[in-house]
Amino acid sequence: MNAEIITIGDELLIGQVVDTNSAWMAEQLNLIGIRVVQITSISDQRKHILTTLKEASSRADIILISGGLGPTRDDITKTTLCEYFNTKPVFNQDAYENIVRLFGSRGFVITPLNCAQAEVPESCTPLLNVNGTAPGMWFEKDGIIYVSMPGVPFEMKGLMTTHVLPRLSKLSSTGIVHRTILTQGVGESFLAAKIEDWETALPDYIKLAYLPQPGIVRLRLTASGPDRTLLEKEINERVTKLYGLIPEYIFGEGDETLEMVVSKLLKAHGFTLATAESCTGGYIAHLITSIPGSSAFFKGSVVAYANEIKEHLLGVTPDTLARYGAVSQETVFEMAAGIIRHLKVDCAVAVSGIAGPDGGTPDKQVGTTWISVLSPKGAETKMFTFGEHRGRNIRRAALAALDMLRK
Ligand code: ATP
Ligand code: MG
Repeated sequence: MNAEIITIGDELLIGQVVDTNSAWMAEQLNLIGIRVVQITSISDQRKHILTTLKEASSRADIILISGGLGPTRDDITKTTLCEYFNTKPVFNQDAYENIVRLFGSRGFVITPLNCAQAEVPESCTPLLNVNGTAPGMWFEKDGIIYVSMPGVPFEMKGLMTTHVLPRLSKLSSTGIVHRTILTQGVGESFLAAKIEDWETALPDYIKLAYLPQPGIVRLRLTASGPDRTLLEKEINERVTKLYGLIPEYIFGEGDETLEMVVSKLLKAHGFTLATAESCTGGYIAHLITSIPGSSAFFKGSVVAYANEIKEHLLGVTPDTLARYGAVSQETVFEMAAGIIRHLKVDCAVAVSGIAGPDGGTPDKQVGTTWISVLSPKGAETKMFTFGEHRGRNIRRAALAALDMLRK
């Protein structure tokens, strides 16, 4: 089954509101095996709504609509739907009682405009919206399902989860199974070459997508077919093989982050951590402290941006700095050793690099970054050559450091 999403609202077209509703709805539809073939955003104008509905009905079996159900003059979706389905608004007792309940609980007085929200097109099945005053509306015409929902994301999501998705999933015969594998420290093309044979052997009902971000490539496998259990088994087998091929690059799956994985490992081992950061400016510490419960193992950080801080707070010797420079194997190692000494932790991460855009030299170009990780498992100090872009270099350095810590 094919679906189409239409979001209505002038605010979407002037860049005031980003259309997050479509992304969420598309994801939910995909999960129940319904393919989205088009997403359209249009203004609150009668003729645009009518033509878009007509066009969508030539492509899709299901049309989900959000927006324009408010009580104010600018919201015209409901009257336009009445025109499209050649029906008229009628008073709905359940919708009215819902409004009374919502207003009563907030101590507001009901206005005639609010009463108008209790009217729904006669030919639709109203869907109770417990989070707001505008009910959802389910229409069926010429074998096509149309569902209109409010634009407020929280109200739309409530209606989708309680009414729309359960009904649609009963109609969908296709099963879809997704699995997303997360890799770090390897570029998209290098990864593709490494897993080429594995990828070529995938059957045509399993699709692979490479989703790159700075420092991370997500591999998303999507299988579709009539038998969900079989698809799950197939995907599991393929993923197990993938783990065997590139174990060093895979750090997690789905919504996991590298900082989550590292935090779990540190907790499991009972190790404490501190960071000594130059070019990342405390970003690694920020990533770690964004994980709830990190106080159990994270002690702190020294942002040693200037050489004198590396020297005075971390004990990097003036001789090392003079001889090898701030961005060197010797300096990051001494930074890591210094933070272990001063903060009395089990594990340390130290980073020093040239984030750019300035500061590069012929023998140390922009993007050159040294990272040192010390832990009870041992010591490792490595050089990376990232790119030209400052923000991405900082992000990639932090991820590389976390990945070294993970290993
Ligand atoms: P209400 O009863 O609140 O007026 P409505 O159906 O009229 O509901 P809209 O006026 O279209 O909803 O939108 C209300 C708010 O919801 C917008 O100002 C915007 O913040 C948010 N919103 C609307 N459409 C979207 C969308 N497609 N994606 C994300 N947010 C949206
Ligand atoms: Mg609106």
